[in-house]
Order: sequence, then structure tokens, then C-alpha cells
Amino acid sequence: MPKNENAPKNPALKPVRGTHDILPADYRRHRMVVETARRVAAQYGYGEMSMPIFEFTEVFQRTLGDTSDIVSKEMYTFADRSGDSLTLRPEATAGVARAFLSNGLIQELPLKVFCQGPMFRYERPQKGRLRQFHQIDVELLGVAEALGDVEIIALGADALNALGLKDKVTLELNTLGDLESRLAYRSTLVDYLSGHATKLSSDSRARLERNPLRILDSKNEGDRAIIADAPLISDSLNFSSRRIFEDLCAGLTTAGISYRLNPRLVRGLDYYCHAAFEFTTEALGAQGTVLAGGRYDGLIAQMGGQPTPGTGWAAGVERLAMLIEAPSEAPRPIAVVPVGEDQDAQALAITLRLRRAGFTVELGYSGKVKKRMKRANKLNACAAVVLGSEEAARQAVMVRNMDTGEEAEVSLESLEAHLACHR
Ligand code: ATP
Ligand code: MG
Repeated sequence: MPKNENAPKNPALKPVRGTHDILPADYRRHRMVVETARRVAAQYGYGEMSMPIFEFTEVFQRTLGDTSDIVSKEMYTFADRSGDSLTLRPEATAGVARAFLSNGLIQELPLKVFCQGPMFRYERPQKGRLRQFHQIDVELLGVAEALGDVEIIALGADALNALGLKDKVTLELNTLGDLESRLAYRSTLVDYLSGHATKLSSDSRARLERNPLRILDSKNEGDRAIIADAPLISDSLNFSSRRIFEDLCAGLTTAGISYRLNPRLVRGLDYYCHAAFEFTTEALGAQGTVLAGGRYDGLIAQMGGQPTPGTGWAAGVERLAMLIEAPSEAPRPIAVVPVGEDQDAQALAITLRLRRAGFTVELGYSGKVKKRMKRANKLNACAAVVLGSEEAARQAVMVRNMDTGEEAEVSLESLEAHLACHR
């Protein structure tokens, strides 16, 4: 976005760091991302739902875990006037799970939901990384089979394809296995990392005991060098975890979805198991993950519900909006231009009449007719309906084709029919 030379000096008039206004031109891209995902999700039978943007802090704290980036340093948490600790949602899955439990939706399983909206994380803002950003999100609860993962990955792939991003993104895939496999891997990993503990970043050293798998997700360069030689989870998978992963890979192949195995891909949140995946792009620099998700069979039980399997993903709307071609322009408007103040009332009536008939109409609000015509030009109007007193006396208006300059007197009665080609 160009620097605004007229930006006010008063700091209170600037948006809060890491937040931004999405002005109409950018919002068209934003909306295209959301609407495309919504349409594809509907084809897959996912119903849209909406949760509040704040929840009791515990909803996120308990599910994401104290060692996650989100809980340890990114949450917008505040006490409300009654002293309850609330948090602006940093992600959608915990809220969907909470809503599943609050609304007693166990009879509705399998539950397939699509949701979208703003998320809040106190991060260091940079391109593609904001403090208020937007996600589209799908969740599938109640399906333990790998087929469920295949379905949601296919939904993600189809949404990205529909946005024209097929050639710009790569699906990376891994498995985190079941609990037994993860525990086995954890101890192998801790053995390895302990040997390099002095060279690990302080964040990673702190995680060595509490959540060593997270270290694989570290963005620190020194850590990355150590991680490069770390043992792989694939060597710690038990038989059933291996089978589940094979089913997933076979399902993706059947679905015609290509993927790249990335044995170091882990998800940053505590509740994941088995499938973990990301769609990444080279086109956005460091912030290359556009869509990320995986299986979270332990989540609902961790929140106090009956054990219920789940799988899903979230995608960053701003990152996707940066990648897509601008959607086609809105339809060119018809300008209604009163020649003088005497015609203002009639102009308003005709404007409303045409809008109600389905036309996109701009009313020339004030000024001399020349100024109003200039504005019609600026708005890229395809036609101008010019209201003069002489025509009014004949129950007619002048319609000017803004491309050719041709003018024709048209009776009020047949105005819609005359303009029909502009609808
Ligand atoms: P990262 O490793 O980039 O911090 P993450 O693991 O925190 O990502 P998720 O929680 O998986 O991200 O969120 C899913 C998607 O939401 C990301 O892949 C990204 O496209 C988008 N996203 C996450 N955080 C931000 C942010 N601060 N600003 C803009 N988009 C974001
Ligand atoms: Mg993050």
C-alpha cells in the first residue's frame, strides 16, 4: 500500500501496530478469498458457523498449552469489568470445540463446519504477519479415519485451485503418530537435542523438557542447523500409526493431490496427532505458509468432553489475498446527473428506481452539470442519465453513452428497457 503523505500526526489516529484497514480495492481480494473458500466448503457439505471473537482465556490456554507460542507470548488477554479473564481469539479450532461442547452437538457427528473472521496475536508485525489478521477455517469432528484428513486436505486444495494458486503452492505432509509413537519419538529427540543443548536458543532450551517436539518448529537459524540432523518421527512410528499414515498418503493419491513428505513438519499446537500438513508458497518470502492444519483427536477430551476425533485447517486470508489476481471490477455504474437543483428531487427518485430495478447507479450529488459529468467520468460510468427541465416537461431524460458520447432522448417510461444492456 502506498505511503500516505496526508497521514495525521496524532498517534491516536493511526491504526494500532499490526492492524490495518482493508480499503475497498483490497477488500475485493479479501472477499474473493473468503467467498471462494465458503463456496468450496459448501460443496463439501460444510456448514458455516460463527463463534464470538473472545472466549474465556481458559478455552485457549488449556487447549493450546502453556508452551505454545500463542499462549506463552501472543494472546490478547484482559480482565473484563466483572473480573473474568477473556482472550481475543488467536485461532478458531478451540472455539469450534468449545461451541461443540456448549451446544451439546454430539448427536450431530460427524460435524462439518466452515468459519472465517479476524484472529488476534501479539506478534512482531511484518509482511504477512499481523496482530489482527483473518483466517478461513474448516473443521471435521467425529471422523477418526484417514479419509477425514483426505477430505479436508482436498477441500483446501480445491479452494486454492479455485483461487488460481495451483502452481504457486506445495502441500507438505507429515505424521505425528499416536501418543505412543510421539512419546517414543520424544525420548529419542530429547536424547539427541540434549547433546546440543548449549547451542540451542534459550526458547528451545526451555522447551527441551516441556515440549521438545516444538523445537522442530523453531525459526532460529542456529536451532535449524541442529534440527537438520535430528532423528525423524518416521523411525518412531508404531504399526498402527504407520498404517494410518499410509491410508492418508494412498487417499491423497486417489484424490489426485500431490504432496511432498516433510518429516520435520510439526504443528505449533499441543493437541495435534497423526496428520500434519501445510500448503506453502515461495512467493511470500519468510511468511510462506498459507494454509496449515492437522488432526487433533485429543482436543475435545482435553476440554472435558467425550473423546471425539477431529481434523481441520486454517488459512491466512491476507497471505492468500496477496497471491491472487485482482478480481474483475464491479459493474460500471450508470450516473444520474441533474442539470440544476430543480431536478435534484427527480434525480433521487430515478436513482432509487433504477437501483431497485437492479442497476448500479451513482447520483451526481451537487455542483454544476460540468462538474457532475466529470465525476461520472471518474467513476467510469458507462452511461449518464441527464435530467434537464426541457426533457422533464416531455416526461423524458437524455441518456449519454459515456464511451461514444452519443446522446438520445429516452422517455421515462422506457428508461429501464433502454439501459438494459448496462445491467
Ligand atoms: P507461523 O509459523 O507463520 O507463525 P502458525 O503456525 O502460527 O504460523 P497457524 O496457527 O497454523 O500459524 O495459522 C494458520 C495460518 O494463518 C498460517 O498458515 C498463516 O497463513 C495465517 N497466520 C498465522 N498467523 C498470522 C499472522 N500473525 N498474520 C497473518 N497471517 C497469519
Ligand atoms: Mg505463529
